[in-house]
Amino acid sequence: MTASHAADLVAALLFILSLAGLSQHHTSRAGVVYGIAGMVLALVATVVVAAQSISAGAVTLIVLAMALGAAIGLWRARRVEMTQMPELIAVLHSFVGLAAVLVGWNSYLEVEAHGADQTRIGDDLLGIHHAEVFIGIFIGAVTFTGSIVAFLKLSARIKSRPLMLPGKNALNIGALAAFVALTVWFTISPNLPLMIAVTVLALALGWHLVASIGGGDMPVVVSMLNSYSGWAAAAAGFLLDNNLLIVTGALVGSSGAYLSYIMCKAMNRSFFSVIAGGFGIEAPSGGDEEQGEHREVRAAEAAEMLAQARSVIITPGYGMAVAQAQHPVAELTRRLRERGVEVRFGVHPVAGRLPGHMNVLLAEAKVPYDIVLEMDEINDDFADTSVVLVIGANDTVNPAATEDPASPIAGMPVLRVWEAEQVIVFKRSMASGYAGVQNPLFFRENSSMLFGDAKQSVEDILSALGTGGRGDTDPSARQATVASH
Ligand code: NDP
Repeated sequence: MTASHAADLVAALLFILSLAGLSQHHTSRAGVVYGIAGMVLALVATVVVAAQSISAGAVTLIVLAMALGAAIGLWRARRVEMTQMPELIAVLHSFVGLAAVLVGWNSYLEVEAHGADQTRIGDDLLGIHHAEVFIGIFIGAVTFTGSIVAFLKLSARIKSRPLMLPGKNALNIGALAAFVALTVWFTISPNLPLMIAVTVLALALGWHLVASIGGGDMPVVVSMLNSYSGWAAAAAGFLLDNNLLIVTGALVGSSGAYLSYIMCKAMNRSFFSVIAGGFGIEAPSGGDEEQGEHREVRAAEAAEMLAQARSVIITPGYGMAVAQAQHPVAELTRRLRERGVEVRFGVHPVAGRLPGHMNVLLAEAKVPYDIVLEMDEINDDFADTSVVLVIGANDTVNPAATEDPASPIAGMPVLRVWEAEQVIVFKRSMASGYAGVQNPLFFRENSSMLFGDAKQSVEDILSALGTGGRGDTDPSARQATVASH
């Protein structure tokens, strides 16, 4: 075994340790460190091996490109807001897809220019090589445009509602059938027009697959594109004869696929339907029209309700991340617990805009792990809860998911907050959530809207609560009006 094989093996083991570390809160930091160590080792080993067969000028160019890429990566990582992480990840996936397309094209042009016998491929394996080129370009191009659409949807540059072209399922199946036929043709008779055809076909398919998926299903799309980017990297690994890239791509591809499966189960979605661009999902009905009258409450009265409460559940969502309200929310939790109120958190698996989004924010604000519960652990307890604080959550607490079969989020399990005695919803307006559907929760008898930025609203509740014991709220709070609209 050469030193480079040993380095590949150690790097692959570090990547496996990294994935294992990232699966638990308390080991996630170590997981990130293992990942960084594995990647540094992989990069150094790759450059050292490459330096033995290419000119010093080419090595210098590689090192310069790596330094430039690292500088841009560091700059973006330092500036990115937590709420922009999903869109950044989508852009990074698109780079992997683009790289796989370029590697595929390069492999084809290299063989065309020098002949297979002059490259490491040799004439015997030429047919397999051509199939690899086609598959690599196909997966890479689907990942590239799919990730760009995901970026546009996640950053709200385009609407998150699904694109419903007539015969969309037939279009997707037709594109897959055309890909298979083109691959066979290309393996027998490789030529430039076929290369262009498969690239354009895959770019269009990637765009259409993700554009056809509605906002509520975007979490699965993000993890699915993560998986595709892994397979694209593995395909590039075959073309470049790089074992570590094959192993790393397979790790990313399979862990992303498993994450997509977990997300589909959590959201009661068919895995096949989502990866096939919303196959079998009909055009959603219902928009964001208001569905009755809502009650409004002020911070001082919310404080009064909390001071009198026996038990409180907080269900955070994307709005808590936007408002960066996690620190005052943690302080409110501490103050209520000091007063003897039982406070727990109910976290929906797709709350926010990336898996584990809320857990990261709550951990950052030092909310104890043992009071942060998953949806399945807490859903039966809402019925026995005095007050639920819905802080910037919307789709994940929408009763339409369980009650309206025509809703775009029908069938998705949600936090059953409406079963509590009182529900206070923190948001800025009556706007709908990410899936673009109105929430009947807002119009229920036991719901009150607390309008305003979530951070400011929680801070206002904290000042109204004062520092004293149970029931010690600002006297003016008790006269606070409950405006009816
Ligand atoms: P939603 O995106 O459904 O709703 C967020 C709510 O926060 C909105 O109602 C908004 O209302 C409110 N809000 C925004 N900013 C503020 C603020 N500063 N202060 C107070 N409120 C604010 O949130 P959920 O977390 O419930 O649901 C997540 C959605 O995102 C789901 O549809 C999920 O499928 C999707 N998704 C999740 C991903 C994941 O991996 N977790 C990835 C991609 C999509 P208003 O504007 O009126 O203030």
